Amino acid sequence: MILTITYTQPPATDLGYLLYKNPSRPQTFELNHGKAHVFYSEVSPESCTAVLLLDIDPIDLARGKKGTSGEGGLFDYVNDRPYVASSFLSVAMSRVFGTAMSGKCKDKPELAEKALPFQARIVMLPCRGEEGIINRLFEPLGYKVTIEDYILDDKFPEWGKSKYYTVTLEGVVRLQDLLNHIYVLIPVLDLEKHYWVGEDEIEKLLRHGEGWLATHPEKDRIAFRYLRRKRSLVNKAFDQLLEKEMAPEEQETVELPQKEEEPERKLNLNQQRLGTVVAALKSANAKRVIDIGCGEGNLLSLLLKDRSFEQIAGVDVSYSVLERAMDKLKIDRLPEMQKKRINLFQGSLTYRDKRFSGYDAATVIEVIEHLDENRLAAFEKVLFKFARPNTVIVSTPNKEYNTHYSNLFEGDMRHRDHRFEWTRNEFKTWAQKVATQYGYTVRFVQIGEGDAEYGSPTQMGVFTL
Ligand code: SAH
Repeated sequence: MILTITYTQPPATDLGYLLYKNPSRPQTFELNHGKAHVFYSEVSPESCTAVLLLDIDPIDLARGKKGTSGEGGLFDYVNDRPYVASSFLSVAMSRVFGTAMSGKCKDKPELAEKALPFQARIVMLPCRGEEGIINRLFEPLGYKVTIEDYILDDKFPEWGKSKYYTVTLEGVVRLQDLLNHIYVLIPVLDLEKHYWVGEDEIEKLLRHGEGWLATHPEKDRIAFRYLRRKRSLVNKAFDQLLEKEMAPEEQETVELPQKEEEPERKLNLNQQRLGTVVAALKSANAKRVIDIGCGEGNLLSLLLKDRSFEQIAGVDVSYSVLERAMDKLKIDRLPEMQKKRINLFQGSLTYRDKRFSGYDAATVIEVIEHLDENRLAAFEKVLFKFARPNTVIVSTPNKEYNTHYSNLFEGDMRHRDHRFEWTRNEFKTWAQKVATQYGYTVRFVQIGEGDAEYGSPTQMGVFTL
């Protein structure tokens, strides 16, 4: 991953003073998971370009388990992190250009205070979210934004475009502002942070956002995404931002209540969803149930408590998630009789698997939206054609309801790993097509508090053979 900064006001070699990096001396910095190299690709009185090149070691990354999926397996070794402009780049920037970011310039202090013509180029910036988000983040800060996109593979145009872009920002700004904008907005676009997001991230966000974040039209989204969608942190950040930006006499002394609305709603929603699934299983008189994409085993735990379920299986594609399920369910410590009722194993619902057969019912709760849409047909066959239980229960978010989540913007999905989210109509159309194709009937249930216009947060289909 590469960041270049170009300065074009003669003598352009002043860039060396501003960045505290000598144009004639390449430098290498050791980072936690690799190296950062700084050098100049052009040096002349008219134009000077500094390059920050990050060389992340994927093996080291996987061993440290930082910035990886956390799920173990091949993904930890084969992922995009070494090649894209992620939060690693932000960390490297503060390490390598820390002094420039704080606005200091020992030899030419007047330059650091001045808005000057700069161009920054970020190569392979991962961007999650709707089209136009890059413009909406950088343009209000005064940049002319040029975006180059890529198609994933020119031999397979149907795969569409990649989510990585090369972005060029041009503007007349102070260098420290340019660096701080990039520092904050890269992880906002990437939405993937390689380190745990805790309270000290608020301090970083406020420090690097000083002077521009409070008035940015997308400040909610920036804080929400930077703090990895942790509502409580975002509220705290805004309280502090208000305090900082307000004159002392205007400051309120009363503490604002923490709004924990979203997570709480989610908690209730989880419980409601699982309760509804159990009820549907009981009314279908299912005794043997397989939960595919079981996650940490919340549904399995409810099923275990109910004697009417004689045989219970949990499947997940992720081994580490299964380990957590085993822990949570305390499988080791269950009495023998109970232990015989439950079986956990690793598998994928897009591959035909004999172990999926022999159950009265299969549940697939909040899983299909994690599959690439072109893998859905494989999933349909695996479950409805080959495993073929009497009852199949599938639940997925109802996209229309997202308007109620105040911090989701148009086009945002509820979870960064969701590949799609469907409206009620889209889900119905899909479910009815599958039912007809494989000889099932299907009825629909809305889960969670909703309204007539947008429906409920979760939608569920109950298929019966
Ligand atoms: N059903 C659980 C977990 C939902 S999260 C609940 O309602 O709480 C989605 C889960 O699906 C994750 O645990 C993920 O590892 C799993 N998953 C994603 N793709 C899968 C696949 N192809 N096969 C099986 N499980 C998958």
